[in-house]
Amino acid sequence: MQISKGSIKRIVVFGPQGSGKGTQAEMISQDLNLPWIATGNIYRQHIQEQTELGKIAEQYIKEGKLVPDDITNKLVAERLKERDAHKGFIFDGYPRNIDQAKIFSDMVKIDAVLEIAISDEEAISRISGRRVCPCGVSYHIMNNPPKKEGLCDKCGESLIHREDDTEPVIKERLAIYHHDTEPVLDMYLKQGILIRINGEQSIADVHKEIFLKLNNEGFAKK
Ligand SMILES: [Zn+2]
Repeated sequence: MQISKGSIKRIVVFGPQGSGKGTQAEMISQDLNLPWIATGNIYRQHIQEQTELGKIAEQYIKEGKLVPDDITNKLVAERLKERDAHKGFIFDGYPRNIDQAKIFSDMVKIDAVLEIAISDEEAISRISGRRVCPCGVSYHIMNNPPKKEGLCDKCGESLIHREDDTEPVIKERLAIYHHDTEPVLDMYLKQGILIRINGEQSIADVHKEIFLKLNNEGFAKK
């Protein structure tokens, strides 16, 4: 698929956990031949290379804390200087709050913001149904169940329901997402660049809706 006008090149993708945001971001990145820039990957690269910022970020991540905004903003600014990002990008996981969004606006002009919207109930159902095997295979009790309940099809091991995938943990993360991200989405709505996508469809249909809406000529003029 192609974006008709070729003018929408700097895109940010939002969505709660379970929305498939990362999958969609990666797909759009391939379609448009633009880099997929996820903050998680930026942290990993800097930690691996043990850069000054990477060492600081590592301390927070090790302690299970969020990397402070000023560190993240600096890492993003550096990433934007890399050659591949000059022609455009698909950002995923940044900006995650209004302070980051304001700094980001000073760094670069955004063409479109995609919100992959799913209800909290849907997010909880998708994530809490996940079961993983130590061998790496993952299942979903409703959408992709193993042949024998609780056992891996591939290796026969007992499946695990990770602590992170339990309802109380998901609810807490959703609350943080709403609190931190909604003001950001409001800001982009006011700028006329927010595109809401129904995330409660198949991966292929979500992908299709994104392209239909990006191709809508009236969009960029709003
Ligand atoms: Zn297994």
